[in-house]
Amino acid sequence: MAMDPQLDLTRLKGVGPKLKEQLQRLNIESLAELLFHLPFRYEDRSRIQMIGSLQHQQPAVIQGEVRSADVLFGKRRSMLVKLADHSGVISLRFYHFNAKQKNQFRKGALVRCYGEARRGASGLELYHPEYQLLDDASEELPEARLTPVYPATEGISQQRLRLLMEQALEFLRDDSVPLNDLLPPQWLAEWHLPTLKQALLFLHQPPADVQLEQLLNGSHTAQRRLILEELLAHQLSMHRLRSKVQQDGAPVMTPAGTLKQQLVAALPFTPTNAQQRVTGEILNDLSKPVPTLRLVQGDVGSGKTLVAAMAACQALESGFQVALMAPTEILAEQHFINMTRWFEPLGIKTGWLGGKTRGKARNESLQAIASGDAQLVIGTHALFQDEVQFQQLGLVIIDEQHRFGVHQRLSLKEKGNLNGQSPHQLIMTATPIPRTLAMSAYADLDTSIIDELPPGRSPIQTVAVSDNRREEVIYRVASACQGGAQAYWVCTLIEESEALQCQAAENTAAELTEQLPNLRIGLVHGRLKAQEKAAIMAQFKAHELDLLVATTVIEVGVDVPNASLMVIENPERLGLAQLHQLRGRVGRGSVASHCVLLYKTPLSMTGKQRLQVMRDSQDGFYIAEQDLMIRGPGEVLGTRQTGLQTLRVADLQRDGELLPAVREMATHLWNNHPSVVDPLIDRWLGEAERFAGV
Ligand code: ADP
Ligand code: MG
Repeated sequence: MAMDPQLDLTRLKGVGPKLKEQLQRLNIESLAELLFHLPFRYEDRSRIQMIGSLQHQQPAVIQGEVRSADVLFGKRRSMLVKLADHSGVISLRFYHFNAKQKNQFRKGALVRCYGEARRGASGLELYHPEYQLLDDASEELPEARLTPVYPATEGISQQRLRLLMEQALEFLRDDSVPLNDLLPPQWLAEWHLPTLKQALLFLHQPPADVQLEQLLNGSHTAQRRLILEELLAHQLSMHRLRSKVQQDGAPVMTPAGTLKQQLVAALPFTPTNAQQRVTGEILNDLSKPVPTLRLVQGDVGSGKTLVAAMAACQALESGFQVALMAPTEILAEQHFINMTRWFEPLGIKTGWLGGKTRGKARNESLQAIASGDAQLVIGTHALFQDEVQFQQLGLVIIDEQHRFGVHQRLSLKEKGNLNGQSPHQLIMTATPIPRTLAMSAYADLDTSIIDELPPGRSPIQTVAVSDNRREEVIYRVASACQGGAQAYWVCTLIEESEALQCQAAENTAAELTEQLPNLRIGLVHGRLKAQEKAAIMAQFKAHELDLLVATTVIEVGVDVPNASLMVIENPERLGLAQLHQLRGRVGRGSVASHCVLLYKTPLSMTGKQRLQVMRDSQDGFYIAEQDLMIRGPGEVLGTRQTGLQTLRVADLQRDGELLPAVREMATHLWNNHPSVVDPLIDRWLGEAERFAGV
């Protein structure tokens, strides 16, 4: 794209090819991008402090006369300059210096410097302060403004950035950079916000008398103005993704509904009201000629699988294929077993494609998918692969979504073979997502919430026990199992190394087998072959095993209602969402269930907090909010694909309360000011969007 010459960085004095390249490393390619490169903190150099009043760790400008300058040969050679004003004496210490510098600090020379005072060998010292020699004491008043500190990179000093910025700000002042105010002026008036130009000028050069406090916590109106704009840009980019998916159109599915009736009639239970309501919302989507993009949230055990199955009926009965995708082999296998059990009696053929499906089995699968023989296809990420071609894919269901990113979601659009139409998409999350995150990371999706658990569940009692009471816990497992219950023993390691995790689980299984010879003990972990895993899960489900030792592979989806006790080793290493997921494997039947969090002492602060939250609550929505507070948004979503890591001025936790308003504003802009949509997205997400390749 040709750049407006008015935005060209070479308009600035001193910018040549080399500096241009360095600026690129800071994602600055135009004057506009330079102006949006905002300080991350400020220094107050607007007044000279008395040397005698300085305190430890206080940054300050001081001015004084050189008393002495000596090179010291201690542990490390250094130059110590004593500087005095009428209030006191302080030392400047330099570890790197040259002869020229040594000469500058002649006795009696007048020096102004900026640095942070710290306690050192000779009392308060300033280490490597920025300094300047003065001709006379009244020379150049100190700066009248706060000094901005910018994110920098190798080869570009703060000083350099400040000088460049000063020039750029001059252009901004005299309106010779084309930087449009993209927000409707009424909004600024209504929200009491400055214009873009005012906001930028202010943030790069705040007057010295500003409330620094305000600037630091992001509450100044100049910041609010930019935060609002950035959040808007994100919302709009989601809108845009959504409209891209939806502009293709989708098949209208309005069958008689017989298949769903048959499915429900064959169940040993009736769907809850929440399951019915959410299914209704989905069926309504599917009956429209626009691709569905819906997020189904429901707590662990709320019965999302049945909702998926009921939705699938609508597509299947209309003659379309359905793909059901899960993030792990175990979960996908389990869905395959359930779905086959539900659908084969109704005359629907299921198909399977896992990551480890190879050779002949794989070819047969691909063949069945391509010919349409396999009507309901279940699998893992493998379903995303290029060779997988459907005959008529009408609905994609992604279970336990938050490991797939927005852009992966979009790639599904290509999977249908529907004469230019897109399949409908349904996304089901394993654990609830806090409202603010859902509103930002999933703003392109409609949302349904299954806010009710099937009847007859008994609450899970959760206790935290330190590992010096391990024997007691083992005894408890034994007595529970002897009483007819089944139990999980979950081994965790934070390291990504699957090998280590599996090793830990193997050791534990061996140890427990030795100590509990009367129990039938099984072991599953990620390194077993798919068939081995499936066989062990089936044995556990059939109660041919009493105790299942496992890694976190059983985290999602595993459903064995008779299991009523879970021991989680080293729970302090896991996040809350994961703990909640794991614990959700028990409490699925009508007997009282227990979860033992077997932690290692000493616990860290956050470790303690997390275990407390787990003991306090079993409500996934509450736990998700707590998780967000403890860990922050980036960690909670656990993905770099959300685009949220690119937030520059906004902070979801701090600014989350703006989101409902931002959402309305985004819709308003989209409908009434379409011409500002692309420029706003480019301004704030240009880079990220370009790399995403959509
Ligand atoms: P999740 O929402 O965690 O995916 P599942 O779909 O695995 O939950 O359902 C959990 C368990 O609840 C399963 O054993 C399922 O058969 C059962 N279940 C689902 N819906 C109902 C219902 N309406 N009444 C009773 N049990 C149900
Ligand atoms: Mg599930």
